[in-house]
Amino acid sequence: MQRLLVSEITTCIETFAPLQLQESYDNSGLQVGLSSSSVAAAILSLDITEEVIDEAIAKGIDMVIAHHPLIFSGIKSLTGATEVERIVVKAIKNNLCIYSCHTNLDITANGVSFMMGQKMGLTNLKVLDPLSNRLQKIVVFVPEAHAQDVRQAMFDAGAGNIGNYSSCSFSHTGTGSFKAEAGATPFVGQVDVLHSEPEVRIEVVCPSYCTGTVLRRMVEVHPYEEVAYDVIPLANTIGNLGLGAVGDFEEPISIDDFLAVVKNTYRVPCIRYTNAVSKTISRVAVCGGSGYSLLEKAISSGAQAFITGDVKYHNFFDAKGKLMLMDIGHFESEYSSLEIISSLLKKNFPNFAVYIAETNSNPINYL
Ligand SMILES: [Zn+2]
Repeated sequence: MQRLLVSEITTCIETFAPLQLQESYDNSGLQVGLSSSSVAAAILSLDITEEVIDEAIAKGIDMVIAHHPLIFSGIKSLTGATEVERIVVKAIKNNLCIYSCHTNLDITANGVSFMMGQKMGLTNLKVLDPLSNRLQKIVVFVPEAHAQDVRQAMFDAGAGNIGNYSSCSFSHTGTGSFKAEAGATPFVGQVDVLHSEPEVRIEVVCPSYCTGTVLRRMVEVHPYEEVAYDVIPLANTIGNLGLGAVGDFEEPISIDDFLAVVKNTYRVPCIRYTNAVSKTISRVAVCGGSGYSLLEKAISSGAQAFITGDVKYHNFFDAKGKLMLMDIGHFESEYSSLEIISSLLKKNFPNFAVYIAETNSNPINYL
């Protein structure tokens, strides 16, 4: 089997789920280990527990990839006083790397909630709560002969994606003017002479997490010594990025059939749910983990049911008469996240060994 650098694995995952997408409270990324070290195999788990670490060591696996981060807040000592400290010490002693891919995997396109919806057979899936205030427009003025190179460089760096369309831009021609002052070495024109140049104004949209890279690549390719460009914040949402998902069954199904589908799809021993508000279910909203905060979005999406985890007793009343609110458990709702990482790694590195942990990290038992 193939060995990989830790950086090759993290780059692969973060290309799919950029770290910049994670929530402010989160701590996704490499938590223990060196990105320059090489690993023989990775094991995937929803959580990192001592038992998961022991399983990895026993199997000779040197990288643990989890959805939930091991370390959320700062560690001030490593004395083994807490499970987190013991795990860090044991991981370092055993050359084990620990990595997590959490809310960036929830928010990215085709992330955890999309996987939840697909597993249940929902079609026409859309993001339930698309990211807002994270989109910018980049406008740049380019001499005509270089317009296509600059446009392409921005596309390659992550700009110009709208829904299922890539390479989106708008261009129109005009005339730029400038006078190079002493010390300048202009690409066209002469120092101290007012110059007019036929230029193309190119507009592209860009998620803010890509803007730095897009601008760097754009300036590298642009022929001018000083590039004129604007970065404009947009109020638009980003349709394919955000929390939760909503989709439709091909045919409406009865409440009993729906409950059976949910139970079987997510292998849940127990579902806590409110009364149905319709005879059949055709549209369903889902959110892996603790998704109660998306209840209003789920209701306004027209879903007859909303599946998530960690719903409190009083919160169930908020769904009364509006939709069927279902708590299938935090662990159960997010377990699909392992399949996303597993298939991503297998697709990109077919000869690298990837395992799903046999250790059940769910701290909750059902009777
Ligand atoms: Zn979670």
